[in-house]
Amino acid sequence: MACTDPAASVGGASASPAPLIFAIQHFCIHDGPGTRSVVFFKGCPLRCQWCQNPESWRRETELAHKGHLCIDCDTCVDVCPTGALTAPGVWDPARCDLCLRCVDACPAAAMVRFGEPRSADDVLAALQPEFNLYRRSAGGVTLSGGEATLFVPLATEIAQRLKNQAIHSTLETCGLFKLAAVQPLLAAIDLVLFDLKLFDDEAHRAQCGAGNAGVKENLRALVRRAASGAGPRVWPRLPIIPGITSVADNVTGWASLLQEIGVRGVTLVPYHQFGAGKRSWLPDAPAAPELGALSPAELARSAAILAAHGVQSFAPGAEDWRLAGGVATRG
Ligand code: SF4
Ligand code: SF4
Repeated sequence: MACTDPAASVGGASASPAPLIFAIQHFCIHDGPGTRSVVFFKGCPLRCQWCQNPESWRRETELAHKGHLCIDCDTCVDVCPTGALTAPGVWDPARCDLCLRCVDACPAAAMVRFGEPRSADDVLAALQPEFNLYRRSAGGVTLSGGEATLFVPLATEIAQRLKNQAIHSTLETCGLFKLAAVQPLLAAIDLVLFDLKLFDDEAHRAQCGAGNAGVKENLRALVRRAASGAGPRVWPRLPIIPGITSVADNVTGWASLLQEIGVRGVTLVPYHQFGAGKRSWLPDAPAAPELGALSPAELARSAAILAAHGVQSFAPGAEDWRLAGGVATRG
């Protein structure tokens, strides 16, 4: 999908539609310290070409059709009251009023809905059964997406209520936000997983749909605040996408910046193709680009470049969080 004016959706939530959550996953071990639950907000200011969660892009509820589950029974077509659905997996969004009858009637769970409005009470109720596990594993909850900073009031309420119960909270962000607008959220969060992508501004714009000047500025500011104890701890993550973020100049650019601002650890997230098929579920998502498999050599070279700049790299789930910049809190 082409970027739909990412800049228009950057910042606080005042002009946003009601926040939607498209998934809450439990028992996650790659999204922060310990064992965690991850809350996925729906809506993202970026459109990274390699994105494996295209259902996270738009802020609106979406219908999707999982063709591999469909048994061609035509039930969805029969129950559609507006005539929007003309064949399994074929519908006219202009005629669809999102009544969700097709979703409810599908016997194969092939028609699905992405995005539901959920209150903080509702999200906390879904998380509560895992609280003891978080405490035993020094884990917690990660607010992800999409981009949780688009929905500051709800994300802040969830994080603050977790904090009140001594549950560790992590924010995973693409880094494209207005710092002043997300201040309430940062005040309630223990750790920020800060995603890095293209170092070059134009390359970032071409691959992700928006430039990265604000991303770098926010990274600097958050690391500075963490170092002084005035903000949550910060841990960058760099997806290694073959031929895109993996190129030596890109890794070197980030390594130099991380060294300059005193970051000592980074997660290298190896590219995989697990999410590529999801694009076909959504009517207007472009096909995933053809990317070759990531070679172990590319990953090793990236780690070596970072090491040469004094930055230690880790696989997801194997981080030494003691290297996270800032003042340790819980977890
Ligand atoms: S959500 Fe309702 S209107 Fe839209 S395609 Fe399904 S049944 Fe038809
Ligand atoms: S109701 Fe479900 S299984 Fe049947 S045709 Fe529609 S999408 Fe496929």
